[in-house]
Parts: sequence; C-alpha cells; structure tokens
Amino acid sequence: MNQNLQNILELQDALARLREAERRLQEIPDWMRELHDEHETRKAEIEALEETAEEASRQRRAAEAAVQDGQEKLKKYQQQINRVSTQREYGALLQEIDTVKGQISSQEEQAFSSLEHHEQAQKDLAALRESFREIEQRYAAELVRWESEKPEIARQADDLRGRITDLKQRLPRPMVSQFERILERYPAGAVAPVRPIERPGRGQREWHCAACNYRVRPQVVVEIRNGSSLVQCDSCKRILYLEEQA
Ligand SMILES: [Zn+2]
Repeated sequence: MNQNLQNILELQDALARLREAERRLQEIPDWMRELHDEHETRKAEIEALEETAEEASRQRRAAEAAVQDGQEKLKKYQQQINRVSTQREYGALLQEIDTVKGQISSQEEQAFSSLEHHEQAQKDLAALRESFREIEQRYAAELVRWESEKPEIARQADDLRGRITDLKQRLPRPMVSQFERILERYPAGAVAPVRPIERPGRGQREWHCAACNYRVRPQVVVEIRNGSSLVQCDSCKRILYLEEQA
C-alpha cells in the first residue's frame, strides 16, 4: 500500500472536517435556522414600523412649523392693512392674506393626519413588540444552546489542526506542495477516486476518474495501487486513489 497516498487521503479528510467544524462555529446551525429567519423577519418589520412612526413625527413637526410661519406672516399682513393707501394695494394684500390662510389650513390638516399616522404606527408597534417577545425569548434560549455546543466543536477543530500538521510532517515536502497546488484549484477536494466503468460483455475492465470522468489506463491503476508517488488524473490533475484505499 502507498503510505504517502494514504496520508494524503487522511489529510484531505481532516481538512474537509476542519472546514465543516469552522463553518459550524460561525454559521447559524441548521436546527435554529428557521427560528433565526423568523426572528430576523420580525425584527425587520418592527424596525420598518419604527421608521414609519418616526417619519410621521417628522412630518407633523414640519407641518406645525409651517403653520407657525403662516401665522406670523398673517400677523404681519394684518398690521400692514392699516398702512395701505390705495385700493390696489389693499386688494393685493387681501389676496396675500387669503393665500396664507389657505396654506395654514392645509398644513393644519397635514399635521393632524401625521399625528393620526403616528398614533396608528405606535399602536401597531406595541402589538408587534408584544408578539415578538415570545420569539425573542425562544431565540435567546437557542443562542445559549448554540454557545454551549461551541466549545466541543472548537476542541474537535483543534484536534483536526494538530492532525493536519502531523500528516504534513509525515509527507515529503514536495508532495505537500503538490497537494496544496491542486487544492487551490479545487477547494472542494484535491483527490478523486478511480472507478471501473461498468460495461457488460466487454472482457477488459476500464476505469475512469470519478471527478471528471476521464479514462484511466489499467497500468495507471496498477501504479496507484503499488507505486510510491502520487498519480494525477491526466485531465483534471486531481490525485487519484482507489476506493479500497480510502
Ligand atoms: Zn479527473
């Protein structure tokens, strides 16, 4: 048996398991994914409603400020009435006063409807927050459970890192480099099994690379089984192995 190939296969396996452990440490676990998504959705709904309430508040303040402005203007115009000397000026001023009164009344309506919007949003928010409370509690409990699983996964990851260092030290340096180059090209895995092509009725067995389907010659299969160097697929360049070796 090719001991180097054996070590390469173990190295590949340890790297894949380390990646999985690291993923489990970082990503939301599958068992809390559903609750996590619901939690995020509800949180986003609440934030959107808070924004709506805030926007209604801003609109109300703007409308109230506009009403105030209008009233100041109105006061000024009314003081001017006593000082106008011609009929034409008087008419023009009355026109101005009418316009400002119209503006004031529409801003007052705007302020009132913004107030109503704000109150409705606050009411909806209270209901939403109430229904969110239960999800938040469950979510907090699941987060605690996830945290409690992490130390064991972290310990496994540490073991795997140690195993990887050890395997790399056992392998000839150029072989490790060769493996790493191929792994860079195929992050999912630098090795591929050789499998027989099932062709009933044909005498000689034929083989292919299970990753890319390229044909593997019988003497290459012998070399994989008995040789001491690594054999790469002629087409995809992955390191080939026989499944009995894995
Ligand atoms: Zn291949």
